[in-house]
Amino acid sequence: MTTETANCAPALDALERAVEELEGRPMSQFRAVRAPAEEVERQARELGADELAQRALLLRAAVLLRDGRTGEGGQLAHQVRAWAEQNNVPYVLARAHRELSIFYRAVGDFSEGLTHAVQSVAMLPEDVPGNVRARHLLSLSVALEEGGSPMDGERRAREALALAAAAGDTELTVLVLNNLAYSAFELDDEPSARMLVGQMQEIQQRTGHRFGANEIDTMARVELMGDRFDAVEELLLPVLADQVAANEGDAVAECLLTLALTRRRSGRFDAAQEALDAARVLCAERELAAVSARVREEQAALYAATGRFAEAYEEHRAFHAESSALHSAQRDARARALQAVFEANEARRVSEHFREMAHRDALTGLYNRRYINERVPALLLEAAARRRPLSLAIVDLDHFKRINDTFSHTTGDTVLQHIAELLVEAAGTSGTAARMGGEEFLLIYPGVEADEAAERCERLRLRIRAHGWEPITGAVPVTTSVGVTTTPDGRGTFSALLSQADRNLYAAKRTGRDRVTTDACG
Ligand code: GH3
Ligand code: MG
Ligand code: MG
Repeated sequence: MTTETANCAPALDALERAVEELEGRPMSQFRAVRAPAEEVERQARELGADELAQRALLLRAAVLLRDGRTGEGGQLAHQVRAWAEQNNVPYVLARAHRELSIFYRAVGDFSEGLTHAVQSVAMLPEDVPGNVRARHLLSLSVALEEGGSPMDGERRAREALALAAAAGDTELTVLVLNNLAYSAFELDDEPSARMLVGQMQEIQQRTGHRFGANEIDTMARVELMGDRFDAVEELLLPVLADQVAANEGDAVAECLLTLALTRRRSGRFDAAQEALDAARVLCAERELAAVSARVREEQAALYAATGRFAEAYEEHRAFHAESSALHSAQRDARARALQAVFEANEARRVSEHFREMAHRDALTGLYNRRYINERVPALLLEAAARRRPLSLAIVDLDHFKRINDTFSHTTGDTVLQHIAELLVEAAGTSGTAARMGGEEFLLIYPGVEADEAAERCERLRLRIRAHGWEPITGAVPVTTSVGVTTTPDGRGTFSALLSQADRNLYAAKRTGRDRVTTDACG
């Protein structure tokens, strides 16, 4: 060990602890992370600690994304992802995917948002703390809900809830409960919503947790479902008295809007107008365009309720004008953010070429085992999230040793190269072909069911045996045995699937080779 590294070690330890502490901070305090993250990044670069510098960079990306600086945040998150992929650091990669999921959801691309959220869970190492995994599951849950799979979203949120509670992370537990309660409210499921709110209150009593305006607004809306107007007033009073820390820029304005709606519905029109006026002032102060449009909508409803129909009509027109202006402004902002990230990606392509090479087998150009080990768990998670099947086949050459022994190792290599081409053909555009080692190959077919997979493998087997081997191996035939297996809904681990395919392959070998064995034959 050089003196230099010896002197660095304590500094590195301290820096790592600092990064961990920042990563573990509650989300409500995100703004307070910016300055320390910048300082940690500077020190990490000085010490040449790349991984810590990237983690600090990602903390900055997270702050930017939550602060509405979507383009800048997205750029940084993409940059960190590229680094983590190149250097094969799963923890950083998983965190980068989570920020990318937030980025894509912010620019309205829910499908990409879901893909990154899936990766952010798939890439997460086994040994991360429970509350870290819970945050990733919560992001996946939100992405699933936005992508139109509320049931899967709820399942992930419940997993997150159990982990957050077990880790004793009160803020995160309340956040998950709040999301679940709001979803139940949106689905008009009052009993579930009430039960979840009950759990939130139980935590508050037990731990003294202080609700944020967001959470109070959810609870108020649940009370409103049952027309319990007094309960809504009681909940929202502290928010109006400014005793609650607003954990999101527009949460207090949302509360005022809920109050106005409640008061209108209970016939207290003057009080409703008061709440609405307060909401309007807040929107102007904080430039909350989205809530501002809804304030107009509520104002129109209030005018109508008090018989002032001409004013209601005018207000309604203003609401429409504001919300369509808002939508086009949002579209512009999204386009700008995507453009910024696109440009950053262009610069990344060169480095991607090198990463690609680390994922390839030198002899055949097929993907290698390392790539497969990284990729398949993510494909499985995606299949599970979308409840789609995934088939997997091991293709093994028959008596390959004989070809090496009869001809030469070089001839054997040529055979492997030809096999690789036939496999690429068999994989098609949606499948993946890989060389796992020696004369053993893998085919992955996402979205393909058992029968279809068996047919594809059978066609491949016939194609290989009918290939023009004569110039290479003369009269010696080249055949393969295939073991194929399928998970109908993405459930099961990669290693379990691989073992099953291997058992099927063994059965194919044992019963005479040159055949395909499926789960049904086994
Ligand atoms: P089986 O039908 O039971 O699969 O018999 P096999 O001979 O194909 O299987 P075995 O596992 O006994 O032998 C595999 C052979 O593959 C042994 C090894 O020399 C050869 N092999 C592994 N990697 C390479 C390679 O990169 N090039 C060549 N030419 N041969 C290889
Ligand atoms: Mg073999
Ligand atoms: Mg073999």
